[in-house]
Amino acid sequence: MTAPLQQRWSASLMNNYGTPPVALVRGDGAVVYDADGKAYLDLLGGIAVNALGHANPAIVDAVSTQLSTLGHVSNLYVAPPVVELAERLLAAFGHDGRAFFCNSGTEANEAAFKLARLTGRPQIIAADGGFHGRTMGALAMTGQPGKREAFEPMPAGVDFVPYGDVAALESAVSEQTAAVILEPIQGENGVIVPPAGYLAAAREITSRHGALLILDEVQTGIARTGAMFAHQRAGVVPDVMTLAKGLGGGMPIGAVLATGPAAELFGPGHHGTTFGGNPACAAAALAVLDYIDEHDLCARVDSLGKTLSADIENLDHPLVAGVRGDGLLLGVVLTEPVAKQVDLAAREAGYLINVPAAGVIRLAPPLILSDEQASNFVADLPGILDAAAAAHSKG
Ligand code: PMP
Repeated sequence: MTAPLQQRWSASLMNNYGTPPVALVRGDGAVVYDADGKAYLDLLGGIAVNALGHANPAIVDAVSTQLSTLGHVSNLYVAPPVVELAERLLAAFGHDGRAFFCNSGTEANEAAFKLARLTGRPQIIAADGGFHGRTMGALAMTGQPGKREAFEPMPAGVDFVPYGDVAALESAVSEQTAAVILEPIQGENGVIVPPAGYLAAAREITSRHGALLILDEVQTGIARTGAMFAHQRAGVVPDVMTLAKGLGGGMPIGAVLATGPAAELFGPGHHGTTFGGNPACAAAALAVLDYIDEHDLCARVDSLGKTLSADIENLDHPLVAGVRGDGLLLGVVLTEPVAKQVDLAAREAGYLINVPAAGVIRLAPPLILSDEQASNFVADLPGILDAAAAAHSKG
C-alpha cells in the first residue's frame, strides 16, 4: 500500500512551509476536497490566487485550447495571447504604457526593482511590514526583518519608512530616490489598510522629487478589492504596477505594467525570463479578464465584501475586534492572539482560512464565492471562535 500523501511529503519535499495540515486532491468552484473526501470551503483561494475558483471551465478551456494550438515559445517571438494580454491590462489600467510578463509576484517586483535602478538613482524606499517576495531583490524591499535576517547581506540601497506615515515619506524621499514601492493594502502583514489619502500623498511626494511610485498589486489587483486595481479606488496612478496571483486564475503569471517614462526604461538585454508570459498562462489571464467583465465581478466583490465584513462584525462575538480590508481581502481582527486556534477550528468545521499574524485571520476567497457560501461561514463562525477560545484556555 502506498503511504499517505503527508508522510510522502515529509520525506520528499524541503520543509519550506512547515508540515502541511491537509492533502488536497480536488477542487470545484470555491470548494476543495481532501484525500478522505472531506469538503472545505476555500476562503483563502490559494492566497488570493484562485480568482475564478477551482476547475473553472473558462480557465480550463482557455488553457487547453491554447496548449493544443501553440505551447511555449521563447520571448524572442510574438504570440497572439501575450500581446492581447498586454493590451487588455493596459486598457484596464487606463494609461498608455508597456507590460513585461514573468512568472510570479516576486519576479514582478524583482523586475520593478531593476527597472527603478535604470533611472540612474540608487535609493529604493519601501514600507515597514510590507511584503514583496522572497528572491533577494524582492526580499530586500520586504519590510519584515525576520524574513531577511538569515540571508544578509541584502542588496544595498533600500530604506524603510513606517507604512501609512506621510511625514516619514516626505522626509525620506529625495533626488536620490529611484522609487517608492508600496502595497495599497498590506496583505501578508495582516490586511493593513493605510489612512485615507496616503497613496495620494505618496504620489504627490514621488512626483515632486522625480521618483517612481511602484504599487505592488500582486495581492490587491485583479478585482480582489472590488476594483480592477486597488489604486483605482484611491484615485492614484502609479508609474509602475506589479501583478500576479489572481491574474492567472491559478496559472503562474506575473506582470509589470509601466506608464510614462518608466515604460521606456527596459531595453534589450536588461531583463528577461524563459517562461514569462508563455501563451498558456496568457490565455488563462485573458480568460480571467473576460470572466471579470462578463460577470461584473468588481461590483459583485465590492458588495459581497461589504456584506461579509458587516455580517462578521454584527456577530458581536467577544473574540472579534473588527474587520478590515476591502472587497474580498479581509482581515478579521481578534481580541486575543488565537488565530492559530481559529485556523484549526475552522478546518475542523470545513473552512480554509489563513493566519498572517497571531491576532488576525485573513479571508481571500475565490471571487466567485456565492452568497450562500459566505453566509454559511458567517453562521458557523461563532462556533469556530468558541472552539478556538476553548482550545486557547486549555493552553
Ligand atoms: N507581493 C505581494 C503583495 C504578495 O502578497 C506576494 C505573495 N504573498 C508577493 C508579492 C509574492 O508573490 P509570489 O508568491 O507570486 O512570488
